[in-house]
Amino acid sequence: MRLSHLARTGVIAAAVALTATLAACGEQASLGSSGSAPSVAQGATFEAGTTMAKLQSAGTIRVGTKFDQPLFGLKGLDGNPVGFDVEIAKIVAAKLGIPADKITYTETPSKIREDVITNDQVDMVVATYTINDARKQKISFAGPYYVAGQDLMVKADNTTITGPDSLKTAKARVCSVSGSTPAKTIEKYVDAGNIVLFDVYSKCADALRNGQVEAVTTDNVILSGLVDSSQGAFKLVGKTFTKEPYGIGIKKGDTKFCEFIDTALKDSVTDGSYAAAWTGSAGKVQGAVPALPPADPCS
Ligand code: GLU
Repeated sequence: MRLSHLARTGVIAAAVALTATLAACGEQASLGSSGSAPSVAQGATFEAGTTMAKLQSAGTIRVGTKFDQPLFGLKGLDGNPVGFDVEIAKIVAAKLGIPADKITYTETPSKIREDVITNDQVDMVVATYTINDARKQKISFAGPYYVAGQDLMVKADNTTITGPDSLKTAKARVCSVSGSTPAKTIEKYVDAGNIVLFDVYSKCADALRNGQVEAVTTDNVILSGLVDSSQGAFKLVGKTFTKEPYGIGIKKGDTKFCEFIDTALKDSVTDGSYAAAWTGSAGKVQGAVPALPPADPCS
């Protein structure tokens, strides 16, 4: 009698667990699994003349992002990039009523990010883009939606480079990207003659592989993506020495669009699409979903 009661309880518990699992799966599916598409807002209304109203009636949005950064923005075989930045762009687009397949992507290497905004080639830039005052002279930022930190990547068997202070002693040549914050910061640690700059980080990874440089420097999460796709050739030093808050670059002074994006980001935490965006991209290597950082004031 006692046994059968326990057995029955077990069956009920299993059934409850199964229902919960199915419910969780259903929720996951509606958020989208890989390349997740957050649910598109239907019938949202925006004040006439705002960027939101303009984009909603156009039914499309132009996004600048990276095409060679695994986990954040990496161009796939279908021509569209995938990664956390791309997922963030999809979240903003969805809140405007624009589905993922109506986003057009432009590759925006670090150095041209402000230009594509000021020249009106894109509506927003989501591209591992650190918020800072120099950039704010030309554009505005919504967010941040993530905070990274500058780090170093070396060959897996390197034991001499242990942090930025070891670079001079190791006589290391260090690669980074023109127009990036890490390229500027590393000047404090390395003689100018030993800094090698390319336009994109994949070229730095090639230079490291070929022995043309001994280290690559940029944000830890970008380097993690490169380490992950290096088949054991590279490792992360793992000592971040800056804070890089990632913002969404928009036209300077478009405060209403900035506030709209900040609300979209906050809502994405509540509706689970921020977590799904992370888990389906950077989270595969970085692990746990980060907390959304508090938004900077829009200006
Ligand atoms: N977050 C840094 C920056 O915006 C480095 C990454 C990048 O170059 O995209 O400059």
